[in-house]
Amino acid sequence: MSQHFETQAIRTQAAKSGNREHSVPLYLTSSFTFENAEQAKALFNDEEEGNIYSRFSNPNSTELIDKIAVLEGVEDGIATATGMAAMFGSMAALLQQGDHILAARSLFGSTHQLLTQIFPRWGITHTYADINRTHEWESLIKPETKMIFVETPSNPGLEIIDLEWLGQLAKAHNLILVVDNCFATPYLQQPAKWGAHIVTHSATKFIDGQGRVLGGLIMGTKELIKDVRFFSRHTGPAISPFNAWILSKSLETLALRMDKHCENALKIAEYLEDHAELESVKYPFLKSHPQHDLAKKQMKLGGGILTFTVKGGAERSSKFINQLNTLSVTSNLGDTRSIVTHPATTTHSKLSAEERKRVGIDDGLIRLSVGLENVNDIIEDLEQALKTSK
Ligand SMILES: *Cc1c(COP(=O)(O)O)cnc(C)c1O
Repeated sequence: MSQHFETQAIRTQAAKSGNREHSVPLYLTSSFTFENAEQAKALFNDEEEGNIYSRFSNPNSTELIDKIAVLEGVEDGIATATGMAAMFGSMAALLQQGDHILAARSLFGSTHQLLTQIFPRWGITHTYADINRTHEWESLIKPETKMIFVETPSNPGLEIIDLEWLGQLAKAHNLILVVDNCFATPYLQQPAKWGAHIVTHSATKFIDGQGRVLGGLIMGTKELIKDVRFFSRHTGPAISPFNAWILSKSLETLALRMDKHCENALKIAEYLEDHAELESVKYPFLKSHPQHDLAKKQMKLGGGILTFTVKGGAERSSKFINQLNTLSVTSNLGDTRSIVTHPATTTHSKLSAEERKRVGIDDGLIRLSVGLENVNDIIEDLEQALKTSK
């Protein structure tokens, strides 16, 4: 029987250096020497496996990839410098001119920019599909459609997509299913189990979990990752060994941290649910979430992110943010520190007002990334800011 998640996250380790170190060392080296000319030739010709140059691979990035592969239940992967390099790489490596992507409308702001502003330059087009109109998705698949790309839960809409249904749809039409699993992490949800061929991450978020480094991951089947590896080797989005080392260490506490993020988030969501100063509260494990049953089916816990809409729109939300004492005002998420973001004026400001409306980002929407502080202190800060921003 395979070991449990926590054990795998701790015990999956890189090959030892020979110095009997317990903690895996940091390999700050650009390149690796060859025993002789023959070995150099063999390594470059794929006749022998091993490190050549840190743009291709490095023991620290390999360890990170090996760990995530075990945790996500996939065969192989590539680690990148940022989450966006992973989103870009997953599409650019596997698609070509004339191909079409069917994507869920509710996406991270920069992923939306990739689809609408960058890929069209190279003749790669997309169609957005609405999560609450799943009956339409099949009819949006064209002969040139090659890929389905979704986030679940989505950022910041917290929309949940039925991964089992999507896996079957992708299979029936022979499409590559890519799931950005950033909000859930493999601890809460493993998209490959439902048929995703590629799972991407911004490791910057919960995987680091402490707001220190950027990183990304493209994980998936051996066959597809072979193309992603070729693309990555020659275009150069490689993660730095230092960041990979940090992220690999972070994974050792992922389960512990996610349990607490989710416990705090649920308590806060329940506290805010009937608050007189709010129009609405959204959290996947609240019964009032439109896809609550689906979230329960495919997620172990509800995640560390919730959203709420303050009464009084944009003006009130600015006042509310300015009244916070403890919580951070920044655009990151998935940190030990609770973070408040106003998507309409920051992460999703590049969307038109119409586009924001269609994905449920109204002017009063606040995204709260629930941290690991004592939950009562988080609630107290939210409460006093709601009161004094009236
Ligand atoms: C943050 C984020 C990204 C981008 O990741 P970076 O590490 O900031 O490049 C992509 N997708 C989602 C869902 C995110 O939250």
